[in-house]
Amino acid sequence: MRADFPDFRLGKVLATSFTGTLSERHGDAVERIPTPHRLVDWLAVNGLTVDSCTPAQLDLARELRESIHAAATAAAIQDALPASAVQVINDRSIQGRAAPVLTPEGERRWRLSSASRVEDALGVIAADAISIIAGERDGKLALCASPTCQAAFFDTSQSRTRKWCDMNTCGNRQKKARFNANHRKGTRSAE
Ligand SMILES: [Zn+2]
Repeated sequence: MRADFPDFRLGKVLATSFTGTLSERHGDAVERIPTPHRLVDWLAVNGLTVDSCTPAQLDLARELRESIHAAATAAAIQDALPASAVQVINDRSIQGRAAPVLTPEGERRWRLSSASRVEDALGVIAADAISIIAGERDGKLALCASPTCQAAFFDTSQSRTRKWCDMNTCGNRQKKARFNANHRKGTRSAE
């Protein structure tokens, strides 16, 4: 039955991968975590394994997602951060009780407390959002140039000139659209 759900878009930045679970916000929006179980799947893929998720926890997750999207978008265009979004991000961050632990192989893992795993996972995502919105990480928040997407993404390219949230989806589509437009033009001028 999983095949019925839209795939996840995997990125390197946790917070913007999370906001990417709703894509095409300015077109035909695609909800990639439509059920609590899909949120469990998404968290597992991102190293935040939880046993279960209730509909209320999914609501919390979506509220955090849209708050990160709003705050990251404001930061990308150097606008004032929306106070309500900041409040939600801070609440989730404060209420999460995840702890980073070091594996013998030298990797960081998140240890979630048993009683409130989803809240702990959301706390990790909120903290990740805070670090990029606060400008503490090497990179720059930007908005995807696709008019139907306009997702906030974290540009870590050396020149900081990345235009698309994802080269394989938005970038490719735009390239194809340009190719088709040029092709049509070419056909017309040849007539
Ligand atoms: Zn995009």
